[in-house]
Amino acid sequence: MRKLLLALVFLLPGIVLAQQPQDFSKVQVKITKVAGNVYLLQGAGGNIAASVGDDGILLVDTEYAPLGDKILAALDSVAPGKKVRYVVNTHYHGDHTNGNAFFGSRGAVIIAQANLRKRLAEGSAGGTGGTVKMESPPQPAAALPVITYENEMSIHFNGEDVRIVHFPAAHTDGDSVVYFTKSNVAHMGDIFVRYGLPFSDIRAGGSIQGMIAACEKVSEMLPADAKVIPGHGDLASVDDVRAYTKMLNDTMAVARKALAAHKTLEQMKQENILAPWADKAKGFVKADTFIEELYYSLTGPNAQAGKAD
Ligand SMILES: [Zn+2]
Repeated sequence: MRKLLLALVFLLPGIVLAQQPQDFSKVQVKITKVAGNVYLLQGAGGNIAASVGDDGILLVDTEYAPLGDKILAALDSVAPGKKVRYVVNTHYHGDHTNGNAFFGSRGAVIIAQANLRKRLAEGSAGGTGGTVKMESPPQPAAALPVITYENEMSIHFNGEDVRIVHFPAAHTDGDSVVYFTKSNVAHMGDIFVRYGLPFSDIRAGGSIQGMIAACEKVSEMLPADAKVIPGHGDLASVDDVRAYTKMLNDTMAVARKALAAHKTLEQMKQENILAPWADKAKGFVKADTFIEELYYSLTGPNAQAGKAD
């Protein structure tokens, strides 16, 4: 029964399924130094950033509960005896938060934007607004953020200010970007990913225009030589974020043009309006899925996202 429940938790965040191994016992958790206090941990699911130092350990995201012991072992290899004191979640998706209860039940204080806590506590519908749908069940108390914030907060930890900034209506409605100011490293969650066309969870308050606005603001906020940890994929630079933002702007322009010409969603798919980005559509977000994301970003409930700024 427990296995079945775990399987459901993993299956329901739907679209990330293709990336998920069936057997967590075979997953290895790799830890690499990024800069200053910050390390990158990669196992299965979203990337984890760890600040390691005299104050202990702060994690950004938690991957999956069955990997908890391997994550602790990897941390212990660089910081013997240090405890995970804080966890910051970038967004509610299971491949970034499933390990919350593991760390929460061992004394870590979980921190997130208020909308994220609501989605974990109550469960959440997700998807493109079209054919891609997923349901995330309510999470146990130990998995829930204890501290929430609305727009921005800072944690003063391991000798530096760690800024946590909310970007509305981007990958979801509860996204945080975490910037380690002295180490000069940012974790962008799934606002920025490296598997090609990205996923915006329109049903959970996301939008492509919100992702563009977030990427543009983060590019301005960060020094040119900052290191950027994406939600998925290898370590990146601010220039990589700019190139990705250009792809989002260019694909959005194509969708706007098609919409202005009164094309339906089906016509946009049939006409393969994203053909120039075929090389980016080889990840787990295919061109038709991204066309839905663009279409429902422009026509759906979050269509005004980013306009108020
Ligand atoms: Zn995600």
